[in-house]
Amino acid sequence: MGPLARDLAGCMQQGQQMITIDGTFGEGGGQVLRTALSLAALTGSPFRIEKIRGNRRNPGLRQQHLTCVHAAAAICEARVEGDETGSGELLFRPTRSPRPGAYAFDICTAGSTSLVLQTVLPVLASLDAPSTVAIRGGTHNPMAPPVPFLQTSFLPVLAGMGFHAEVILKRYGFYPKGGGQITCAIAPRSPGAPLDLAGRLPVTALRAAILLSGLPEHIAAREKQILSTEGGMREEEIDTIMLAQGQPGNAVWVTAAQGPCTAVFTGFGERGKLAEQVARDALAGAGFHLASGYAVEEHLADQLLLYLAIRADGRFAASRLNLHGRTNMEIIRRFLPVSFHQTRLEGEAVLVSCR
Ligand code: AMP
Repeated sequence: MGPLARDLAGCMQQGQQMITIDGTFGEGGGQVLRTALSLAALTGSPFRIEKIRGNRRNPGLRQQHLTCVHAAAAICEARVEGDETGSGELLFRPTRSPRPGAYAFDICTAGSTSLVLQTVLPVLASLDAPSTVAIRGGTHNPMAPPVPFLQTSFLPVLAGMGFHAEVILKRYGFYPKGGGQITCAIAPRSPGAPLDLAGRLPVTALRAAILLSGLPEHIAAREKQILSTEGGMREEEIDTIMLAQGQPGNAVWVTAAQGPCTAVFTGFGERGKLAEQVARDALAGAGFHLASGYAVEEHLADQLLLYLAIRADGRFAASRLNLHGRTNMEIIRRFLPVSFHQTRLEGEAVLVSCR
């Protein structure tokens, strides 16, 4: 265990009080569970969660969430009750401090590999020895961080804060087949610096990528057309990744470099959705965010909060703080003695700081 994890564990283990969480709180989805799992594994605090994913159409634990539970449990040898598909209640009690190592998790469905990584990374990246994690499942899932987001946006910001990890995409996996694989090499925690992304930052580069797997080429051509006519992007600013033999899959992402931060906005292809709409989804996200001038977009914002809290310092201005973000702050406060401060900026932009 690293000095940071030791401090946190020492701070929290004195009482070892069971934390009870209402799974319908705020956003009421998987994020509530994942944040609790990460912080329980890191601090040693046991928790009980009721009405898991209670605000979702298909509440309870799905395969992806179960994998998150088992992944977190493996790291801190937690005793777990209620870890079954469909379960609405879970008890999670760590029995030891988190241990670095070589871990492998298989979701066995197209569930998001990134969300399993999101659960274990804050723990393993806080330790003073390296770890590796291999995860099988989906790699470009709607409603989850796609791999390019992790590689281009999320991990570079974390590295500045002292949490170092590199994700390699070994095999693509799309809904409904899955079967993709990522590996993540996590370095020992380093001091890093407090995150300070409070001001507006100019866009220094704007690019896009089209990923097309096992689908007709005209889809990529139509997406490119939208990126150029509606997004004003030139041919040479658009990369195309064609996987001729793969399972069907399609995503379009726009990347905007702003100082030390790169924002990634993704549109996901799905059955019955027009190719044009996939490209427009990516552009719409970028358009809203870039109009604000701030560097942190809403997904990066909700995912950075946990690391801000582990460091207990840092601040950023986000173009929007979504319900995931606001929910995450509350769940984090249940485990860690930190406070978040929010200051409204123009429009929906918010300055968030943590102490
Ligand atoms: P939940 O809906 O509770 O399972 O949480 C979904 C997680 O995925 C949140 O951390 C979101 O920020 C993240 N997420 C969803 N869509 C994207 C996206 N397009 N890019 C990056 N992260 C995303």
